[in-house]
Amino acid sequence: MTKNYRLVYDIVREQARGSHLAPADVFTIAKKKRQAIGFTTVYRALARLRELGLVSEISVPGAESSYYETTGPAHAHFRCEHCGAIEDIDYALDANVLSEIARKHAIAVRDVSLSLHGKCRRCTGRAESPVH
Ligand SMILES: [Zn+2]
Ligand SMILES: [Zn+2]
Repeated sequence: MTKNYRLVYDIVREQARGSHLAPADVFTIAKKKRQAIGFTTVYRALARLRELGLVSEISVPGAESSYYETTGPAHAHFRCEHCGAIEDIDYALDANVLSEIARKHAIAVRDVSLSLHGKCRRCTGRAESPVH
């Protein structure tokens, strides 16, 4: 891995879980650490890290760009149509449901991306309801 790729990987990795970085965000941070780095380099590094399975690219319909996060447990994403915030939702399709779908349609599923859309907690002004 080249020094630049390493830098990009560290940037994505250092983010708190639940944060999602657009390539432009990664570039802004990278530039502060290494002035000479170009946007194309950052973009290529992200693509390569994704191929290596070190970062995940998430694309959420309606969002102006794709986002990157460290590869971790499966979860869904929520996009607020009001303020554009993207949040992690702790939900994954049940493995049994998934294999049933694959069997029924004779498909091999490699990846699942789930996205929910609506208004976030801040925008609804509601409090998170306690777990029952
Ligand atoms: Zn919102
Ligand atoms: Zn996420």
